[in-house]
Amino acid sequence: MKGYAMLGIGKTGWIEKSYPKYGPLDAIVKPIAVSPCTSDVHTVWEGAIGERKDMILGHEAVGEVVEVGELVRDFKPGDKVIVPAITPDWNSLQSQAGYSMHSGGMLAGWKFSNFKDGVFGEFFHVNDADGNLAILPEGVDAAAAVMLSDMVPTGFHGVELADIQFGDDVCVIGIGPVGLMAVAGAALRGASNLYAVGSRPNCVKIAREYGATDIINYREGDIVEQIMEKTHGKGVDRVVIAGGDVDTFIQATKMVKPGGRIGNVNYLGSGDYVKIPRAEWGCGMGHKVIAGGLMPGGRLRMEKLVTLMQTGRLDTSKLLTHKFKGFEKMEEALMLMKDKPKDLIKPIVII
Ligand code: NDP
Ligand code: ZN
Repeated sequence: MKGYAMLGIGKTGWIEKSYPKYGPLDAIVKPIAVSPCTSDVHTVWEGAIGERKDMILGHEAVGEVVEVGELVRDFKPGDKVIVPAITPDWNSLQSQAGYSMHSGGMLAGWKFSNFKDGVFGEFFHVNDADGNLAILPEGVDAAAAVMLSDMVPTGFHGVELADIQFGDDVCVIGIGPVGLMAVAGAALRGASNLYAVGSRPNCVKIAREYGATDIINYREGDIVEQIMEKTHGKGVDRVVIAGGDVDTFIQATKMVKPGGRIGNVNYLGSGDYVKIPRAEWGCGMGHKVIAGGLMPGGRLRMEKLVTLMQTGRLDTSKLLTHKFKGFEKMEEALMLMKDKPKDLIKPIVII
């Protein structure tokens, strides 16, 4: 079968691979719609997780079940399914401890385009199908539902990590697709003043539509100064980091109030150390909590999140700025994600 792969750090191309093997609990799925992720860009062009050879890319998909193992109970060939980017081993000790995303080791719940072939193939393997697939409900658009694989759960996890409460003043740093979903999630969680940091005009427009009350342009001056000015020197209760780099933690620490929380979901592709400013961190005593996490995956989360689309509380279709038709367009879509033209939020490939 064919797939679009990482051939090595900085190199991608089409490859031939054998049809995936599967065990009694697993499923084989063929993609219906897929989207590339900024994480694929970190993985290939920054070599952020190290060398990977001939590994099919992609971890965001809605697909159709082709085959299931003999012990799979709830899915059968022909079912249309949402496939989360993170597919934990649900019987692992890490899952039992509440950190399924780290089942099998740190970040090892993230399997597609990390430890095994991803979803940019004609077929792909899903471990623990009953725990990791969710039926795509009738009436939910497959392309919009691809955003449930990664963008929605990641952005929302930033909100969970920051533990946003009703009436909190919140700053979301970065309003690419992940940050936009953090803005939407923060609004659903009851943020009051919701500051969104970014510069691309269409991201800014959509951030407002998802609930941002103020836009902070990081290209037009220090974001800490801008936040301090808007909050009359008080700072914000919560920060979600969904963009920037290792230095962004300096700004986040400075702008959050004592007792505040910073939730990071940004994948730090480069830089050896994350920087925390000593004095603004209260010399280590400021009760400014910094939490960073990989999104939770699995079936229950997918089933719950899709209900937000069904009830009209979340419209993910706004993220889909570039639409492609045909399997072979995966290459073009990934390159677009790498080059990030100004009007891009997310490309989608419908197969
Ligand atoms: P984008 O590149 O589309 O968006 C990044 C955002 O950050 C943009 O709004 C950009 O602004 C802004 N930005 C860039 N530099 C700075 C800066 N110095 N200061 C403030 N803002 C800045 O990324 P995505 O939304 O696709 O993804 C965000 C991150 O989340 C990526 O690192 C991705 O790999 C990661 N990720 C993490 C996952 C997890 O489970 N934790 C899962 C999926 C993704 P501008 O408007 O100028 O472009
Ligand atoms: Zn991703």
